[in-house]
Amino acid sequence: MKQTDAWGASFLELIRRASTDLPVDVERRLRAMRRAEDPESRARWVFDTILENTALARAKSLPLCQDTGTPLFFLRTPRGTDHLHLEKAICSAVARATRKGWLRQNAIDSITGRAYADNLAPGLPSIHIEQAPVRQVEARLVLKGGGSENMGMQYSLPDDALDAGRDLEGVRRCILDALVRAQGRGCAPGLLGVCIGGDRSAGLLEAKRQFLRSLSDRSPDPALARLEARVSREAVELGIGPMGFGGRGTLMGVKIGSLARLPASFFVSVSYMCWSCRRQGFSARPDGTIARWFQP
Ligand code: SF4
Repeated sequence: MKQTDAWGASFLELIRRASTDLPVDVERRLRAMRRAEDPESRARWVFDTILENTALARAKSLPLCQDTGTPLFFLRTPRGTDHLHLEKAICSAVARATRKGWLRQNAIDSITGRAYADNLAPGLPSIHIEQAPVRQVEARLVLKGGGSENMGMQYSLPDDALDAGRDLEGVRRCILDALVRAQGRGCAPGLLGVCIGGDRSAGLLEAKRQFLRSLSDRSPDPALARLEARVSREAVELGIGPMGFGGRGTLMGVKIGSLARLPASFFVSVSYMCWSCRRQGFSARPDGTIARWFQP
């Protein structure tokens, strides 16, 4: 990999697309949820506004939301790939995207309150690179809004207050509790990423990885697939609706994964993603030029 390669330009375009172009499956789900609302309801008006905003952002190449979120990069690379070079290219692209307005100056020093002009700060961007049995680098980007991040929860089972034990029924109670607590804040309709097990940090990261799944897919684990479907049905009955204005459209979906745990621990980590579920991906040739775009 040379400094003259195309990695920087490819990551810049990845950020632009993620920030301005809502994935097709997300938009399709929002349209279906709109149709399910009463035509005279505030819920229908919220969906109309969201969809109008989505079309404008795409047409004008402008961010879907004023909060462009935490950039979460997930890369899978073939053996022999220079990870440091990729990290450098990502950071350079983040700085350029901030100057161009596709990312807001979103990184704040937690002690002084000072904003970082280029979004390059301790812990930001969040980059996760792993070697994998792939022929080309696969890069995925999720932009995770701060309001939705605030609605995330982590439970340690058993939980007496929820009457939740260390089983899938206990997990179901945790997921529904997180949704009820949010009450539409975090910009519903949301998408929940859930991880059963792991330690606290691994659990929340795995919960966020669930956002890379298509809205229409099913968990390969039949028990988790049944739980995903059940929670999605039950969310409609909560009546919280988009932005908490009431209605059927509370939840776009729930994606559940699992990690091993220690005998002493049973964590259920729930990450909340807003309607502005921004994710894009590409695979690239060794020189960094794009081989294929995909919406993970
Ligand atoms: S939670 Fe999402 S939609 Fe709401 S302000 Fe933040 S980024 Fe925007």
